[in-house]
Amino acid sequence: MMKAAIQTETFLNYDRIRNLSRVAKPSKTRIEEILEKGKILNGLSTEEAAELLAVDDKESIDHLLSTASYVKKEIYGKRMVLFAPLYAGNHCTNNCLYCGFRAANKDIHRIKLNMDQIRQDTESLIREGHKRVLLLSGESGHYPLSYTLDAIAAVYSAEVNGSRIRRVNVEIAPMDIEDFKTLKKANIGTYTCFQETYDPELYKIYHPTGKKSDYSYRLNVMHRAMEAGLDDVGVGVLFGLADYRFEVIALMEHAADLEKKFGCGPHTVSVPRLEPAPGSAISEEVPFPVSDDDFRKIVAVIRIAMPYTGIILSTRESEDIRNELFQYGVSQVSAGSRTTPGGYSLTGEEENKQFSLGDHRSLEEVINDLTDGGFIPSFCTGCYRKGRVGNDFMDLAKPGLIKHFCMPNGLVSFAEYLSDYAPENLKKKGFNLIDKITADAGSGEIGTLISDSIERVKNGERDIYL
Ligand code: SAM
Ligand code: SF4
Repeated sequence: MMKAAIQTETFLNYDRIRNLSRVAKPSKTRIEEILEKGKILNGLSTEEAAELLAVDDKESIDHLLSTASYVKKEIYGKRMVLFAPLYAGNHCTNNCLYCGFRAANKDIHRIKLNMDQIRQDTESLIREGHKRVLLLSGESGHYPLSYTLDAIAAVYSAEVNGSRIRRVNVEIAPMDIEDFKTLKKANIGTYTCFQETYDPELYKIYHPTGKKSDYSYRLNVMHRAMEAGLDDVGVGVLFGLADYRFEVIALMEHAADLEKKFGCGPHTVSVPRLEPAPGSAISEEVPFPVSDDDFRKIVAVIRIAMPYTGIILSTRESEDIRNELFQYGVSQVSAGSRTTPGGYSLTGEEENKQFSLGDHRSLEEVINDLTDGGFIPSFCTGCYRKGRVGNDFMDLAKPGLIKHFCMPNGLVSFAEYLSDYAPENLKKKGFNLIDKITADAGSGEIGTLISDSIERVKNGERDIYL
């Protein structure tokens, strides 16, 4: 695929998106037709997704949710990838009205972790059993690219009893192509950046000052990242800032443009909802509230329309809604999170968080609940370490092979967690689940591969992946 020249103009047609976000509710027959197409696992057009977003009666919503569950199960099986965010610092020169880190908030204690502190925070995460970290910071001269590169190296260098973090994803301010080329060399997994809102007028209001007030620079960030050679990028919307139908349609058009130009769309979509944040200007009163019903619909439509793109949900959401959304499409979740720099190893810094969390469970509690629900908690980093990223990952994902690599790898990483970190009761429950899934896989190639690998983990081998 030819690399595209980067557009400075927007690639979104706002009139078209606005019209699609207002389409009338389709007939029952039409809903049926779209959902049947969804079950083929080839995704939906933006027009079809827009029609589904207009659905509001209980019977059709139930049908939509059960179709999303079907797609989720067919492609991802019962695997649920776990990670933890690590905030390196909260200085910020931007003024995003919704965020506790915004420059105008004078009540927050600004913290920039040094490399020893980053290592300490990472060690705390490793002791819990984490293997995947998302590194974040505010946007400020305090965090030049050299700082981020050192921070990534510090996370990778931390070690506790032979265990390390195996994948660092990064969520930092947009940058130019040359800097992305440098970032790529730091061996990162996914580069993530949320558009917040795709509505250019509202964007201007929410981002009054600072570099982030340049809508177009942010909108084109993934084009620059992919142009620079980053294969896995993660997009997202901060739901609550604008009409959710407009946002989902625009996000799909964004993904489609990346696919058209680079042969591969985003690796993940994040679906944060606006939460109250101490020191923010608007989050107490959400401008465009998204109800739990609408939120379920959003996740289900994205799952059916973009079946091979991972959906990430954070601990912003409560335990109940998280458990539900796991069924309808979410494939990656954060667990045991803190949104304060140093939150895992420094004490007394709770008031310096970016926003409030809805799920306060520890990693162990989340894993316990996932196991009760029959899910495979996964810390797998196999694809990225085997170089199955970008187009290669999509080629692999599309024929349904995610299940054949990710399921065994997920089970093996779960067995490692159970052996090294779980208390006796969880260990027993977890290995029972592994035995059941292994038995269901049969005695063919995959089943044998899984049972051999689990045996190797039980015998003390670590970091096995296909
Ligand atoms: N500062 C960088 C940026 O803004 O892109 C890095 C990531 S920022 C630390 C992470 C994300 O937190 C933002 O993109 C925004 O969507 C989200 N966020 C900020 N305030 C929030 C709030 N009150 N509720 C939920 N999410 C929020
Ligand atoms: Fe800064 Fe990011 Fe918060 Fe905006 S969302 S104020 S850029 S940390």
